Amino acid sequence: MSDAQKPAGPHSGSSCLMCPSAQPEMPGSRVLGVVGGTPGATEVAYLNEHLPVTEDLLRLAGPVPPTQVFRFAAQCDERACAHFDGTNCKLATRIVNILPAVVDALPPCLIRATCRWYQQEGRAACMRCPQIVTLTYEPSEAMRLAAEGK
Ligand code: SF4
Repeated sequence: MSDAQKPAGPHSGSSCLMCPSAQPEMPGSRVLGVVGGTPGATEVAYLNEHLPVTEDLLRLAGPVPPTQVFRFAAQCDERACAHFDGTNCKLATRIVNILPAVVDALPPCLIRATCRWYQQEGRAACMRCPQIVTLTYEPSEAMRLAAEGK
C-alpha cells in the first residue's frame, strides 16, 4: 500500500495492537463478530458493543469450537505468533494479497483504532475481513493459501 493509504494514528507501530482473528483464551479477548452467511460466502457480522469472553458465551457455540462461529479480537501476540515476522503480521499481508475484497465500504468495526491488520494494511484489510473465519475445516484454496502461506 502507498503511504497515502496507510492509516495514521496513535497506535501506528506500537505493540499494543489487537489481533482480529484471535483465540478466546488470549489476553483481553472479546467477541469481534459472529460468523454468518453461507458455506463459501461467509459474512461476519461485527458486534456494535464490547462483549468480553465468558464461559457462558463460549458455551453458545454448542458442539463446535467457538472460533468456528465467533471472531475474537485480543492483544496481538507478536513474537509468540507464527504469523509475526518481527515487524508485520504476514497473515494480514497474505489476506490482502490473495483474497478478494468482499465489501466496498468499511465494515462497522469497533476495534479499528487498534487493529493490527488495519494499522498495517489499511482499508484493504477491512474490505476482506468479513470473509475470515478463524477455524474452518473446508477452506477454499485461496483461503488455505492465505492462512498457511504455502
Ligand atoms: S474490519 Fe478492519 S479494523 Fe475491523 S477487525 Fe477487520 S481488518 Fe481490523
